[in-house]
Amino acid sequence: ARAQAMEIQESPDVGYEDIGGIDEQVREVREAVEQPLIEPEVFETVGIEPPSGVLLYGPPGTGKTMLAKAVANQTDATFIKMAGSELVRKFIGEGSRLVRDLFEMAREREPAIIFIDEIDAIASRRTESKTSGDAEVQRTMMQLLSEMDGFEARGEIRIIAATNRYDMLDRAILRPGRFDRLIEVPEPTHEGRTQILEIHTRGMSIDDDVDFEELADETDGYSGAELESLTTEAGMFAIRSDRTDVRMVDFEEALEKIEDDDGADVISSA
Ligand code: ATP
Repeated sequence: ARAQAMEIQESPDVGYEDIGGIDEQVREVREAVEQPLIEPEVFETVGIEPPSGVLLYGPPGTGKTMLAKAVANQTDATFIKMAGSELVRKFIGEGSRLVRDLFEMAREREPAIIFIDEIDAIASRRTESKTSGDAEVQRTMMQLLSEMDGFEARGEIRIIAATNRYDMLDRAILRPGRFDRLIEVPEPTHEGRTQILEIHTRGMSIDDDVDFEELADETDGYSGAELESLTTEAGMFAIRSDRTDVRMVDFEEALEKIEDDDGADVISSA
């Protein structure tokens, strides 16, 4: 059962070259997570502790999970992912058990990167009264903090968490020795969108008339995940036109379809 709640991958198949538009964030994650794993002696010589935990925050679909996987790949570490929402939908006492299992699993397979997505699910500032559910969530968070307090900062296990709700977080998890390195992963800029489109079309047959700069102009506000869907959708339009090369017109149609679908969402949820 515990394996079901976790996603485990040996050295996942994502490289830094697959991540577009967040070079500065990649650099920061490498410094905070990769370097302490590969060159712990540098930190020892300088006489400082590397960050205990790294928190990535920002809107959905911007590459937070990819970043964590890329570090695991680069360091040949086991990637162990658990979603915060998984930890709270369990029976009483199970959340903290799962946290214990998570760290035990990491110790068995080190070097390891523990990635906790949606950390806000277990570490939100409590606004409501103390119902039993809240107390259970609180216990899960306390277990996480005690696991983190107990491990060696220069050791072979690194922990990365992610959230879309930075404003909601309980400040207790941001104290020194806990998630003490914060990295914002924002929505991609124009240049970022151009890079992301180039990355996701690397393996596609793209006609010379496709202008990624122009597509970046037309996709203000799109996340990396949405840009990826755009490239797939454009490919579908090419196939429908009985072509194997993807042209600018396919991207234009794909954009129109995505914008229409968004409109439909707004209407249906109104
Ligand atoms: P969430 O907050 O919803 O968990 P996330 O920030 O962790 O989102 P990812 O899971 O890393 O987002 O991204 C989802 C998919 O979107 C990736 O598998 C990738 O294909 C694409 N993607 C997102 N951001 C980028 C990026 N910066 N460069 C390239 N592809 C990206």
